[in-house]
Amino acid sequence: MAATESEKCKFLIVGGGIAGVTCAEQLASQFPSDEIILLTASPLIKAVTNFKQVSKVLEDFDVEEQPHSFLEERNPNVRVIQSAVKALAADQHTVCTEDGRRYVYEKLCICAGARPKLITHGNPHVLGIRDTDSAQVFQKRLSSARRIAVVGNGGIALELVYEIEGCEVIWAVKDKAMGNTFFDAGAAQFLVPQLESAKPKAPAICKRTKYSTEACFVLGPEHQEQSAAERGELGSALGPDWHEGIKLKGTKEVSHKVHFEYQCEISQISYENTLAFPEHGSDQTESTADKELWPVYIQLTNGKTYGCDFIVSATGVIPNTEPFVRGNNLEVAEDCGLKVNEHMCTSEPDIYAAGDVCTTAWEPSSLWQQMRLWTQARQMGWYAAKCMAADTLGQSIEMDFCFELFAHITKFFNHKVVLLGKYNAQGLGRDHELLLRCTKGHEYVKVVMQRGRMMGAVLIGDTDLEETFENLILNQMDLSAYGEDLLNPNIDIEDYFD
Ligand code: FAD
Repeated sequence: MAATESEKCKFLIVGGGIAGVTCAEQLASQFPSDEIILLTASPLIKAVTNFKQVSKVLEDFDVEEQPHSFLEERNPNVRVIQSAVKALAADQHTVCTEDGRRYVYEKLCICAGARPKLITHGNPHVLGIRDTDSAQVFQKRLSSARRIAVVGNGGIALELVYEIEGCEVIWAVKDKAMGNTFFDAGAAQFLVPQLESAKPKAPAICKRTKYSTEACFVLGPEHQEQSAAERGELGSALGPDWHEGIKLKGTKEVSHKVHFEYQCEISQISYENTLAFPEHGSDQTESTADKELWPVYIQLTNGKTYGCDFIVSATGVIPNTEPFVRGNNLEVAEDCGLKVNEHMCTSEPDIYAAGDVCTTAWEPSSLWQQMRLWTQARQMGWYAAKCMAADTLGQSIEMDFCFELFAHITKFFNHKVVLLGKYNAQGLGRDHELLLRCTKGHEYVKVVMQRGRMMGAVLIGDTDLEETFENLILNQMDLSAYGEDLLNPNIDIEDYFD
């Protein structure tokens, strides 16, 4: 196609992450005689494999980073084009890419993901982790580090702090407990001992695809070209087990050495050792000032200062909306995501959005909330494709069942973690109670009850309770009569509710 020519297509998808790829594959199967074009900024796409419906709403799958040809071979009517979108003209149904091409679409789905929300921009001592390239940059810097600071309290910070070995970690957490996005203080307490003990030598068996960064480190840093992350290119987000196969080791002969600083944020980043520095793990006083020099110092809002080799900013993400919102009437939510309604439609005609780039603006079920997670990226990509198909064919479509109940399986600190419904009593106010069962080092079970109904649960360890609890949350049965017996380990709860 000549540079100035326009290409027409029925379905145009932007983004080669889980949301975009799932959307393209679903449309390809529903419209086998139409070509689906997928535009992506990244050289690899993310493919879902071995998809398993674990229960009604819990799902499990592997993720593979693959060349574009993988998707095209699996779906002969999908064409993948590597070029970032630089502009959208919604009124003309046109998208322009960086390589100078124009695409005129009938229906467009934006699945451009999100990028790390950094505590500061343009500072070489502050890294964000988002994709394989930024994980490589992180690994390279860590390999010569003695101490790093991690800021943030979500899933990425949790995984990082557990995975890093051979390096002191100062973990600045704005909440009262670690992992606030996923847990309460009780669950955090259950997991903390894992950070105080050495990491198991052999990792737990991981059936998901590994992200290998070996090739990047064959040459010394001086011989390496600037990585894509350093150039600010837009790769797709990592996901479960991204750290498997990546050696996250610093220069010290220690396993875990984590120092928590709760209820604080970074107030200042400085480069001079003018501030008092404490002995690691002890309270700071002038007399314990650090003798070592560090490339960078963080001053925390609690008044303490630490030196470190670099800072990892794991404080959430910002949706990649810039090229799409410019010059259009796309409504954007407070968290900067593209607002979508219950049909995954944005505020512009024939434009849908799915995955990390979007913010759900419909009235959600009382048991579901949006979280920028791998599972929701897949579900939204799939459902957006169903909505695009239904609108094209003039059919009606009902909201997919997966949006009835929030459900997520993951692994933190080598423990299986299942989160269901309002697992942290989100939005329930004070009108709820918690039932707990905990066996140190083995399992942690928490259920959130409201007026006798189960509203959510956190299951850590191999509890085998996920299916039963999922049913109890979904059917909203009055469980008042069972009281604390619900978590009595001597009662086989599955038989109880058969
Ligand atoms: P992405 O995967 O980010 O894909 C976006 C795509 O859009 C990319 O291909 C990108 O190149 C492309 N793109 C962007 N802008 C443009 C443009 N202008 N033009 C063309 N293409 C563009 N989730 C979990 O469920 N469990 C976990 O344990 C977990 N761990 C994580 C660990 C890390 C380190 C990170 C960063 C994320 C983690 N997540 C996890 C979150 C999960 O990875 C994301 O929610 C999910 O991958 C989002 O998928 P997506 O398809 O919406 O976006």
